[in-house]
Amino acid sequence: MSKTVLVSGGAGFIGSHVTVELVQAGYDVVIADNMSNCDETNYKGVCAILGRELPFVKMDFCDAKAVRDLFAKYPIDAVIHFAAFKAVGESVAEPLKYYGNNLGSFINVLEAARAKEGGCNVLFSSSATVYGEPEQQPVTEQSPRQSATSPYGNTKQMCEDILRDSVKAYPGLKGIALRYFNPIGAHPSALIGELPRGVPNNLVPYITQTAIGKRECLSIFGDDYPTPDGTGQRDYIDIVDLAKAHVAAVTRMLDGKMKAGYEIFNVGTGRPCSVLELVKAFEKVNGLKLNYRITARRPGDIAAIWADPSYANAELGWKAERSVEDTLASAWAWEKHIAGKE
Ligand code: UDP
Repeated sequence: MSKTVLVSGGAGFIGSHVTVELVQAGYDVVIADNMSNCDETNYKGVCAILGRELPFVKMDFCDAKAVRDLFAKYPIDAVIHFAAFKAVGESVAEPLKYYGNNLGSFINVLEAARAKEGGCNVLFSSSATVYGEPEQQPVTEQSPRQSATSPYGNTKQMCEDILRDSVKAYPGLKGIALRYFNPIGAHPSALIGELPRGVPNNLVPYITQTAIGKRECLSIFGDDYPTPDGTGQRDYIDIVDLAKAHVAAVTRMLDGKMKAGYEIFNVGTGRPCSVLELVKAFEKVNGLKLNYRITARRPGDIAAIWADPSYANAELGWKAERSVEDTLASAWAWEKHIAGKE
């Protein structure tokens, strides 16, 4: 009998790609989302890719009763928890909104998971932001975490700790935290992708919106970093590769292959890429010129971070495979799709 995975925040950017990969790997998926930061585009795209409707529950994970009811209704073997607020700047302006939502929803998930007969597996979507500005590159899972510079970043660290402590205390509960580097791109079908509201904060949506004419000019935030070309370096990982890491992690949990009750994996490519390199690659693969200028550094940005993914590669039997060019071609195809130009 196939196992059931609950994907909270399954109508969002990462959740929708993970849902597709889970179903294609043979899992039953229940999507739950309060639709606070997205519309139905990605849910409809998921159904179009898979050729069928999936169970979808519109609910808020801060509502403890709704979470309990969900667990009573479906035979949930594992939960992947994406439902969270994610805007760094907003979290600084409204910390209580972020702590209340991101911690409250996760605690409700863990309460329901620990109460489940037969145990439950919880996968938390964490972030490389927990490493702060690393002293050594690439970062491994043992690299020290640093004090978070925003309430958003702090919720990632706190949820990791809440999961670790809960796994220790409650028999039957198992947990994995995946620390994402910079997820970019879209599904090769161009039916699901990133849908930022308003002006994008992240680099790739800003690039594609500039290329299509929604934005006038990309600002490259600083070219005086201590990096080879002076612009910031990150580890950009294809969204489908990232989604496949979730399938590998869930399978590891469900197959009883974990080496400890709580595990952490870096999900990155291991390749540093600068802002300028990314812009050049985007121009080359898509055959266009991008309007950009160098501006001041963005407050709070670090110079560089990239992953050592070897632990995830060895333990999950997973590796990022797509080239940054293919990923940037998929990001552009998606932008054109949502602009209705294709
Ligand atoms: N960046 C940029 N212009 C933008 C957005 C981002 O130059 O409009 C740079 C940013 O300074 C960083 C990199 O792109 O070096 C990735 O930023 P993003 O916000 O996508 O992710 P972060 O690594 O900050 O989470």
